[in-house]
Amino acid sequence: MNTQNQHTGQPDVIVVGGGIGGLSAAYALARKGLNVRVLERAKEFGEVGAGMQIAPNCTRILHEYGLLDEAKQLGVLPESIVMKDAVDSSELTRLDLKDLEQKYGFPYMVIHRSDLHGIFLRACRRAGVELLTDQVAVDFQNSGRGARVTFEDGHVEEAGVVIAADGLHSVARKLLVDDQPVNSAYVAYRGAMPIEQVRDNDISETDVVLYVGPQCHFVQYPLRGGAMFNQVAVFESPKAMAGEDDWGTPDELDAAFEGTCSQVQQGLPLMWRDKWWRMFDRDPIMNWVHGRIALLGDAAHPPLQYMAQGAIMAIEDGWVLAEHVGRQLATGAGVADLDWAVALSAYNAVRPEHCRRVLTTGRVWGELWHLDGIQRLQRNAIMRARDTYDYTFTEWIYGNTALFPDDEPPMYPTIPLDSVEVAEEQAQEPRELVTVE
Ligand SMILES: Cc1cc2nc3c(=O)[nH]c(=O)nc-3n(C[C@H](O)[C@H](O)[C@H](O)COP(=O)(O)OP(=O)(O)OC[C@H]3O[C@@H](n4cnc5c(N)ncnc54)[C@H](O)[C@@H]3O)c2cc1C
Repeated sequence: MNTQNQHTGQPDVIVVGGGIGGLSAAYALARKGLNVRVLERAKEFGEVGAGMQIAPNCTRILHEYGLLDEAKQLGVLPESIVMKDAVDSSELTRLDLKDLEQKYGFPYMVIHRSDLHGIFLRACRRAGVELLTDQVAVDFQNSGRGARVTFEDGHVEEAGVVIAADGLHSVARKLLVDDQPVNSAYVAYRGAMPIEQVRDNDISETDVVLYVGPQCHFVQYPLRGGAMFNQVAVFESPKAMAGEDDWGTPDELDAAFEGTCSQVQQGLPLMWRDKWWRMFDRDPIMNWVHGRIALLGDAAHPPLQYMAQGAIMAIEDGWVLAEHVGRQLATGAGVADLDWAVALSAYNAVRPEHCRRVLTTGRVWGELWHLDGIQRLQRNAIMRARDTYDYTFTEWIYGNTALFPDDEPPMYPTIPLDSVEVAEEQAQEPRELVTVE
């Protein structure tokens, strides 16, 4: 067993899983004065992958935690998010992120995921969180004094509450629902490289650029103060659609982006080709709490990544739970007197509905990005008609994280694709000749 910040005795809270969700929840609770122990399956704490986007509903929390300046030093504050058509590279719509920061009070950031994870790991160490690796949880049970977790080596840990932040294949989730990850048949390739390698590729060094195309999309943005560049290529795998096991392979990557614009074509050879991420989510569930065991992060709400809110939702989960704990402590209750049933019930009353909205919107968003034919042209026309400074579509997500169900803002109004008329012949033109002006 690998241990850091080791205490003795029973902690107030056990967190299973030391990803961004587990560590951020551990930190949120530790800063309220609770003794927290994190138990992680891997031999080392860390994150595999490249960049991630962090919207104002998360940077607001980083600010409250005193971690935003560190994150700003490690990340990049892009000027805009620009959505382009992956076929003809024309601009569809954009968010002015400087204006967005003015509006929501906190910045939109891109950051290497290992940097964000590292920020929480260091914060946990400073806050005295016990951090244990090489700990594989195999069973979760409620007990008289809280909840217990059994580990692969046979030892058992107990605390007043157990947070299961054990990701997409959560062991604890089985206590609440008998479900399986849902295969989207889409796969993501990632690549992060020194900026010098892409300078000649008609890239933006200051924006997040998203190319949306038929059954595929391509994302680019700078990382690490602009010294690195991040690319994500996502496509629907024909082999997955045919039910084959060996799907998402590099030959499919190249074929999926045939017919896309030169900016995308130039980026493709730089994708890492030795690993890829098959995209699964799960159907939303509206109960995350089983006695003193609470799901958090991807264990509760694994999304498709199209809203770029997966890690953010996990960070919000921990903040909300810690706020409800803090409210009890503020009344003069000691940690030993905490009424976990009340805190967990408040958490369970507000978070599942918010995350249900993000999960279901993520699925719809993915469909919208990947349209072909007439529907692609209808989408493009709707996107082009949007005013850059119209925030109707961000109000529900980038504002303050709701602590109570009544604080959850309404969803955005939907615009049906067929509210736009597009000439049929346009959709039948060869892709590279399509113009929609
Ligand atoms: C291509 C892609 C792009 C994305 N982009 C964004 C983005 O821009 N913005 C954003 O907010 N989100 C993004 N996400 C989503 C985000 O990465 C995840 O939602 C987030 O990392 C989930 O964090 P987590 O801690 O809940 O789960 P995980 O990161 O899965 O962590 C779970 C942890 O639990 C451990 N564990 C698992 N089982 C056990 C066990 N039995 N015992 C002990 N430990 C265990 C694991 O080893 C792991 O460390 C993206 C995802 C993908 C795939």
